[in-house]
Amino acid sequence: MHTSSFTLCTIFGRGELAGCKSPFGFLASTSDDPYGVRTHVIAKSPLHAYRFIGTRIKSLKNTVPWEGMLTRALNEKGLAFTYSYVPCHEEKGEPRDRLEFSEGLITRCSSVAEAANYLGSGVPEGCTGNWMLLDASGELAVVEASCSSSEVLMQGDLVRTNSWQLLSTPEKTNVAKTGPDPILTASSDSRLRRATSLLGLESTVDEVMNLVRDHEGMSYDEPEYGLSICNHGKSMGTVSAEIVVPRQNALYYNFGRPCGACDRLASWGRFHKFVLSEVRDGILTSVEGRILGTTAIASADLT
Ligand SMILES: [Zn+2]
Repeated sequence: MHTSSFTLCTIFGRGELAGCKSPFGFLASTSDDPYGVRTHVIAKSPLHAYRFIGTRIKSLKNTVPWEGMLTRALNEKGLAFTYSYVPCHEEKGEPRDRLEFSEGLITRCSSVAEAANYLGSGVPEGCTGNWMLLDASGELAVVEASCSSSEVLMQGDLVRTNSWQLLSTPEKTNVAKTGPDPILTASSDSRLRRATSLLGLESTVDEVMNLVRDHEGMSYDEPEYGLSICNHGKSMGTVSAEIVVPRQNALYYNFGRPCGACDRLASWGRFHKFVLSEVRDGILTSVEGRILGTTAIASADLT
C-alpha cells in the first residue's frame, strides 16, 4: 500500500461546550489527494434515514477502491463529521463497502455518542483514521478507528492529520508492510505541528478559512506531497477545502486550493455556502468545480 493510493488531509474542530476556547463550533479540513482524484458536493434524502449534505470522493479514472466515500458531511439532526486517513494494515474482517459505511454514519446517527458507537467496533479497511465529530449540542470528539478497535477523545478543540495520538495497536498495524512511508510521515508531522499552533480563537467562518489557507512549510521545490496545510505537492496536494458549521446548517466548500492558486486546478479561492435545508438533492458541484443547478441553491457566496 502506498500513500498515493489514499486521501490524506488536515482536519480541525471546535466544540461549543464549557471549556472551549471560543463558542463557535466548526469542523474544517483540507482534502488532500493525488491530482487524479476530486471531491464534489452532494445532498441526499435516504428513505427512513437522515438527510445530509457532504463531499464525496470522485476519481477521474474511476478505479480507486474508496471511490464514492463520504469524507465530510452534515445531517438534518446537526451531526457533522470530517475524516483524515491513517494507514493500518492489520488483518481485516469481512469486507465492507466504504461508501455504505460512511453514508451509514451520517444517515443513521444524530449525536456524537451515537456516531462514536457506530465507529466503535472498527471500520472497513481504507476507512481507518481519525473521524472527527461535532453535534447540535456542541459536543466535539475524535474517534481514532482501526479495523478492529477505536479510542474516543472528547475535547473542546482538536486537530488531526495522518497519525493517531491515542490508539494503541500492535506496531505492525500502524505501518505499511514495507515500513512507514517517509513522505507521508514527514508531511503529517509537519501539518500536525502547524495546525496545533494555528488553531486559536476563531469566531467567524472567515477566520476559520485562514486555517486551511496556511502555507508554512511550503518550499520553492515542493516534494511529492508537501509539508504545508494548503498543500501544493508535486504528485498530491489539496484538491478542495471544507468548513462545516452545524449551527448554521451549512457546509462551506472551496474547489481546488483554498489559497486560490490555480497551479493544478481551477481553484475558486473562495468558499461557497451550501445550506442543507435550502439545497436540492443530488450532485451540487461537478468534478471540474462547477456549481450545478444554481437556481435551486439559495446560498450566499462569501467573498
Ligand atoms: Zn495554497
